[in-house]
Amino acid sequence: MIIKPKVRGFVCVTAHPTGCAAHIQQQIDHIKARGPIKHGPRKVLVIGASTGYGLASRITAAFGSGAASVGIFYERPSEEGRSATSGWYNSIAFTTAARAAGLYAGNINGDAFSDNIKQQALAMIARDMGPVDLVIYSLASPRRQHPKTGAVHKSVLKPLGASYTNKTVDTDKGIVSEITIEPASEAEAADTVAVMGGEDWEMWINALAGAKLLAPGATSVAYSYIGPVYTWPIYKDGTIGRAKIDLERAAQAIHARLMAHGGGRAFISVNKALVTQASSAIPVVPLYISILYKVMKAAGTHEGCIEQMQRLFATQLYNGHSPKYDSEGRVRVDDWEMRPEVQDTVSAIWLKATTENLAQLTDIVGYRSDFLRLFGFGLPGVSYDAEVEPHQLMP
Ligand code: NAD
Repeated sequence: MIIKPKVRGFVCVTAHPTGCAAHIQQQIDHIKARGPIKHGPRKVLVIGASTGYGLASRITAAFGSGAASVGIFYERPSEEGRSATSGWYNSIAFTTAARAAGLYAGNINGDAFSDNIKQQALAMIARDMGPVDLVIYSLASPRRQHPKTGAVHKSVLKPLGASYTNKTVDTDKGIVSEITIEPASEAEAADTVAVMGGEDWEMWINALAGAKLLAPGATSVAYSYIGPVYTWPIYKDGTIGRAKIDLERAAQAIHARLMAHGGGRAFISVNKALVTQASSAIPVVPLYISILYKVMKAAGTHEGCIEQMQRLFATQLYNGHSPKYDSEGRVRVDDWEMRPEVQDTVSAIWLKATTENLAQLTDIVGYRSDFLRLFGFGLPGVSYDAEVEPHQLMP
């Protein structure tokens, strides 16, 4: 089958297996080029391991410090004549490369919020790997069925209290327009906290601790975002921000628990805004990212997920002493994004950006190419006109 991108709004419904494998290889090559991460993790559980920041964390742990890993994700496998979602192909490529390098890699495809998948993960860790010294929590999901109540919670990306009007871009059509987003109801805000807050992270840690599968001194990290003030109504001060406050609450509770278990630690890492499947769904943010890319590429400080995670592991998590925390106890790898000189330039462009000058003032081209790369399209050395077998089994 010849597989071409089919973009529908902010998703691409096809993915290219060879392209996804090339994308994984690029990330592995980056980690190898940066050299070993001393004092790095040995046995890692990554929850949300197939795309974006979780995938980059898994690659960093495996190829930066030789870690064994179990990855949890929720992807649509391929069928005869139908491509899988990209995270399926990513996980196949990662697993093949990790095993070729002599590293253990186990995968579970299913709903991480469920008790069943947690039990499967515990069994796999106990059987194949032994207690974990690092747990990465990197889920981004639109819904969660609560394992105890059975209720289905849906997350929304809305402001709180008042409506929010700002610029946004249709990244496909290149049209800049104004968007007004009505505020969330209290029920929608609570649902978003139920999906993207910290309860499930705590459930994972409790399950691991209960099964004695947390190594003494283990670390756990979850990811958050802050960004510039004019995105706060839709992000930091919106429904997702409220969920992130709950994630920070959970980080403190988990930290206390891990600390008491051999001096472990848990915290939030605030990461840079990047094109991922999760971020492309947020109104306003893609225009901000297109401008940010332009400014950071010009400054020579642009990073993707893999560069961010390499820097997080090498200079913060496993730097041989303590990470540098901000006043709220978070680790910041959004520090280069938030530099005043970067933000001042981004804000000036933000005010000027229109449909007509989008190509000159912003890196919409870089945004689009990163978006397509998420699905394995546009990778150098891949022949996209050649036949490829879409149906690929997890090794
Ligand atoms: P992503 O969409 O690339 O990855 C989400 C992962 O979660 C995938 O592996 C997916 O399979 C998995 N997943 C989703 N629902 C699941 C379920 N029910 N069961 C099992 N797995 C499931 O997202 P991302 O952008 O890498 O986001 C990861 C974290 O990083 C989020 O907490 C996000 O808020 C945070 N973050 C993202 C950005 C950004 O700009 N993308 C910036 C800072 C922080």
